[in-house]
This record gives sequence, structure tokens and C-alpha cells, in this order.
Amino acid sequence: MTELTMLCVHAHPDDESSTTGGVLRTYADQGVRTVLVTCTDGALGDAPDGTTPEAKHHDPAHVAEHRADELAAAAAILGIARVEMLGYPDSGMEGWAQNDADGSFWSTPVDEAAARLVPILLQERPQVVVTYDEIGFYGHPDHIQAHRVTRAALESSGLTASLFYPAIPSSAFRRFREVLREADVEGPGTDDDEGGGPPGTPDEKIDVVIDVSAAVDAKFDALAAHASQTESSFFLKMGRDRFRQFFGTEWFVRAIDPLGRTSVDHDLFAGWRG
Ligand SMILES: [Zn+2]
Repeated sequence: MTELTMLCVHAHPDDESSTTGGVLRTYADQGVRTVLVTCTDGALGDAPDGTTPEAKHHDPAHVAEHRADELAAAAAILGIARVEMLGYPDSGMEGWAQNDADGSFWSTPVDEAAARLVPILLQERPQVVVTYDEIGFYGHPDHIQAHRVTRAALESSGLTASLFYPAIPSSAFRRFREVLREADVEGPGTDDDEGGGPPGTPDEKIDVVIDVSAAVDAKFDALAAHASQTESSFFLKMGRDRFRQFFGTEWFVRAIDPLGRTSVDHDLFAGWRG
């Protein structure tokens, strides 16, 4: 039987935990080979002491180094078999001047970055690839670029693989907002959040629903390993019990489906298991 492999392409260190921590650990526990490609160095995140990227004494090189260590710790918790960092400079949040800085991930031609992903795809030959949708899940330039680069790399690799985008169904999003309100924690979509957060995906558009409840504590611990970014985040502030209530499920939509599946699946490898 061929080895099953899942490859996730993420933008920043910590995205693998927040977005796909449940499936990464769940599939690793099943003996699936899990591979993570992290595109940027995360240098425009907060420093370990909480210094924000807007501050004059924010040291991007030091932040990048620290975040690589945090990523290694999180990857160990999630049982990820191989981590590849492409090392592109973080482009910062939408609208920041750093978006267009020379060499930033966002300003790198898609084909150039894709050419670095293709050899990894060809070495690993994953049946399942996961990255963000065309709006980068919530509009972050590096996430949008990860989407474009993954699509381009998959196409030029010639691989036959299923591509999935993580999603949160609208009904679950409403429930999530309630959990946050109950916990009195500010987060995406709560009243205090001006952006309103991502709207969620209409429930009927969800193609795959995965029970990751056995991995939910590992997901929480992996997020906690990214302490420089997550210590004050809603993920940890909501507490482990509330986190368990909400993050025991991960949802996906099919983006490329060589198997032509039509039903709602409960396994990203549905149809691939020989
Ligand atoms: Zn990110």
C-alpha cells in the first residue's frame, strides 16, 4: 500500500497550529506522513517580550529566529514529520508598507516561489494538499500569496492530488462568537472587533468535516508553543475547556478534486485509501 502523505502550505509560523493543528495531529496519529511548508519567517510578528512590529526597537531577525524555535516545538507536538521553511520575509498585515518591501513574500513573483515548492511536492508526492482559499481565509497578503504559490506549484508539478482549503461554516462561526462572548474574550467577529472577522463559509459549501477531538489538546498546546504570538490571543484566553468545545472539529472545502467526490466526507483521504 502506498504511504499516505498530507502536505500543508502555510504563510507564517503558528498558522499550521491555528488552522490545521487538529488534522495534522490526527493524521500523524494514524500513521500518515505529514509535511509542513511555512513560507515566511514571521519576522513582523511580536517579539518574545511583546514588542510590536510598529516599535522602533523591534528586531525582525531576532523575532524570526525565535519563531523558528517556536515552530519546531509546535511541530513536535503535532507530530509533523518534516518542516520546510521557505524563509521569505514576512509581508506584514494588509496595507502595511512592508507588503511591497523588496524580497517580501507578497512581492515575490508567484512562479519564483512556486519553483521552490515544486521539488518538495515531487519528493513527497502527497495525495492531500492543504492551503488557504483565494482570499487567504481572512485577507492577509501572505496567506493569499501562499494560495497562489501552492496552486501554481501543484499545476507545474503535474501531481495528481486533492487540494483542500480550511473553512469555518457560518453556523459554527456564530457558535464561536457566542463562546467568545461568554468567555468575555475579544476575537474575530465579536462586537469589539471592528473588522467583524471572516464571515464564514455557507454551511452547504463545506465538503469535509473532520472530528479532531482526540487531537484538540495537542492543538491547544501547539498554539501555546507559539507563545510570542498567541499568549494574548483569543485562542489561549478562551481557556482549554472552551477551546475543546469549539476546536474539536475542522472543516474544509474541496478545491481540486481528481476523485470527483460529491458527498460530504469525514476524511481528507476519502477515496485515496487503497
Ligand atoms: Zn498567518
